[in-house]
Amino acid sequence: MNNLKIRNLQKKYKNGVTAINDISLDITNGMFGLLGPNGAGKSSLMKTLAGLQSPDSGFILFNDVNITENPSFIKKQLGFLPQDFGVYPKITAADLLNHIAILKGLTNKKERKEQIGTLLEKVNLTLHRNKEVHTFSGGMRQRFGIAQALLGNPQLIIVDEPTAGLDPEERNRFNNLLNEIGEDIIIILSTHLVEDVKNLCTQMAIIEKGTVLAQGKPNDFIDALNGKLWQKAIDKKEISKYEQEYDIVLKQLNMGKSTIHVKAENKPDESFESIHPSLEDVYFSILNQNK
Ligand code: ADP
Repeated sequence: MNNLKIRNLQKKYKNGVTAINDISLDITNGMFGLLGPNGAGKSSLMKTLAGLQSPDSGFILFNDVNITENPSFIKKQLGFLPQDFGVYPKITAADLLNHIAILKGLTNKKERKEQIGTLLEKVNLTLHRNKEVHTFSGGMRQRFGIAQALLGNPQLIIVDEPTAGLDPEERNRFNNLLNEIGEDIIIILSTHLVEDVKNLCTQMAIIEKGTVLAQGKPNDFIDALNGKLWQKAIDKKEISKYEQEYDIVLKQLNMGKSTIHVKAENKPDESFESIHPSLEDVYFSILNQNK
């Protein structure tokens, strides 16, 4: 069982922004969702985990090795799929994978070839192996990104906002692929989409302004809110009135009518009905508490 311990991590950029403000997290095998709005500090945390930047203070242990002091230890065991994979050179998918594999220290040519073949198969790009990567669609690039992240059998995989820019079908295929990669390693999925976390992750943390607001199992969060969530259809014009009176978690607009989800210990009045919380309700109620 792999384990990742993040302790009191702190990172302030030169422009004065504190992107990571005393973050501590415990992560073990399986898919871990790091959920937070844009600017919450997710990418900063991912880059620090990947050893691409060092924290000002705090430390990270991966399988009990301090990787803030030993970044090379993590680089050998890490697969990183950054938000912007960056340059797509005029080189075929197979050649680029070969090149990255060499950089990752896969020195045996035969093993390298086998692994690349298996990975291309896994991400469904075998037919496109001799096409240049810059001609790939968004979904194909993301799948290629996963293949390169998997080179060298990493024990820790970090994916930063993987479904941004993908259409629903590509997103679904990509998520299934992540799901398949297995439960035997740690996969950290950083995203602002509740949907991705709901479908994929067994553990999650919600972060905002560089701070962890909550960490646990998605279902436990849902259970904790269960019995405290009330729904009512109202006229759009009445929203501000309700906002003053109630703790509104979520507003949904459909066909001129608005539906509000209100958090309260007891049923506010007979016009409200009890509803089962979704992970989206959980997410917004936790963000609201922090306001
Ligand atoms: P997220 O990935 O959740 O959108 P980021 O980690 O990208 O959040 O950003 C967190 C905060 O740090 C934001 O306010 C962002 O503007 C700032 N930031 C990110 N990278 C840098 C950088 N290299 N230099 C200065 N500020 C940065």
